[in-house]
Amino acid sequence: MTLTNHLCTGAVIAKLLPLPIAIPLAFASHFVIDSLPHFGFQELETTQQHWKLWKQVTFIDVTVAIVISIWLISAHHFLWLLVGFVAYSPDLVWVYRFILKEKFNKDQLPTKNNRLTEFHSSIQKYERVWGGLIELAYAAVMLIIVS
Ligand SMILES: [Zn+2]
Repeated sequence: MTLTNHLCTGAVIAKLLPLPIAIPLAFASHFVIDSLPHFGFQELETTQQHWKLWKQVTFIDVTVAIVISIWLISAHHFLWLLVGFVAYSPDLVWVYRFILKEKFNKDQLPTKNNRLTEFHSSIQKYERVWGGLIELAYAAVMLIIVS
């Protein structure tokens, strides 16, 4: 799922549940919604073939997430934002690897999967272009709940 949807899911959890239980549930929510159909491509080669689309979706996603973050801060919901980042945090491993491989061409650095990363990767079974529609509907529901 997108950064926006993970962020909103965490914010909703923080809105509805007290701390500290909201934090592990937000982390766990990452894997639940990653197992739903969402935007993406199954294979790295397919992602590279549709690189322009992937970059456009990622740019829009990051922009929307920044706008939502500013909105949460301005509404004095900083804690919801932090729990939202906890919900997103498992994807930081992909960001780390992307930066190493794409920006610094560091293929020689170890990127071996641990058990969590193996599990995280294995649940991405329903990454499809049409999954973007599921993401839009999901984001709308989460934004309604969080607002
Ligand atoms: Zn993920």
